[in-house]
Amino acid sequence: MAILPKIKRNDTVRILRGKDAGKRGKVLAVLPLEGRLVVEGIAMVKKHVKPRQGGQKGQRVTIAAPIPVANVQIICTQCKKGTRIGITRENGVRQRVCKQCKSVIE
Ligand SMILES: [Zn+2]
Repeated sequence: MAILPKIKRNDTVRILRGKDAGKRGKVLAVLPLEGRLVVEGIAMVKKHVKPRQGGQKGQRVTIAAPIPVANVQIICTQCKKGTRIGITRENGVRQRVCKQCKSVIE
């Protein structure tokens, strides 16, 4: 199953659920073990960074929190629609295919 993840880094996804529903963003990181991914600008949370040694102050930074993969839909690079991904096998190579327009998604 995990040989070819359906959503990869740098894919563009649309958020389906939660406070950011309807927004789009680029996938920054995929956490396959947790079934979550980090999307640029989505699920922003403030995080307190502890002061490090050397007299630096602690500070609050805003980061994108990981969200469940089930809450997003990939945007096809060809037809630009939110779509589901199918897997095809061509000459032994597994490829991701848009279920809407049938084109291969890199
Ligand atoms: Zn498509």
